[in-house]
Amino acid sequence: MAKTYSIAIDGPAGAGKSTIARRLAKELGYHYVDTGAIYRTVAYFMDLLGVSPKDVDGVERYIDELTIQIQYNEKGEQRMIMNGMDVSDDIRTQDISQKASLVSAHAVVRDVMLDMQRNVAKKNNVIMDGRDIGTVVLPRANVKIFLTASVEVRAKRRYDELVAKGTKADLNKIQEEIRQRDHQDITRPIAPLKQARDAILVDTSNMTINEVVTALLRIIKEKIPV
Ligand code: C5P
Repeated sequence: MAKTYSIAIDGPAGAGKSTIARRLAKELGYHYVDTGAIYRTVAYFMDLLGVSPKDVDGVERYIDELTIQIQYNEKGEQRMIMNGMDVSDDIRTQDISQKASLVSAHAVVRDVMLDMQRNVAKKNNVIMDGRDIGTVVLPRANVKIFLTASVEVRAKRRYDELVAKGTKADLNKIQEEIRQRDHQDITRPIAPLKQARDAILVDTSNMTINEVVTALLRIIKEKIPV
């Protein structure tokens, strides 16, 4: 099998990981893997069954009934297939964001999802974003970036996104939800959100998307032949 390269981008909610990773993947001709979507799909599945994301016994009882496939459509967009059904749009609500953060704290969930993520990286050049890619999923990634921004900036970006879509939004509430999700993701005992020792920290608070893409491309080109 040909050698594959991997780029890990970790960071808190709303730091711009997916927007940036998608742009970089296009530029480099890499597969973009949004790992948050996997945990969102688990949360959505448990929600449909009426299982609380905090109920570890319930989650453990039903996790074997869930099959997740990651597919790419003709535009190259990642689609999440849950037991044969495309749920990519259903998993994008604020409610599912919170539930994904809770359900992803359980070892049983993380163990099941680990191989799936590693298998994609074995077969393809990938740029993968999440919380534990550089620390747990791909500890030997060729490039590791930890993308962050202040909580105020991240909340404002989410707010602007929602408003642009015509959705009513409350900036204070979004900020509170982001704080809570950060806290849950940082303090969980298994695979917490953490900068890998060999990851490069990029604070995007005062940067435009284009500036971040340019900065990351520079870092990547130093480490990978592209
Ligand atoms: O990135 P996104 O906001 O879609 O992630 C949803 C939730 O999934 C996060 O708050 C986090 O708890 C969890 N997650 C994780 N590990 C990853 C990616 C996401 O635990 N690699």
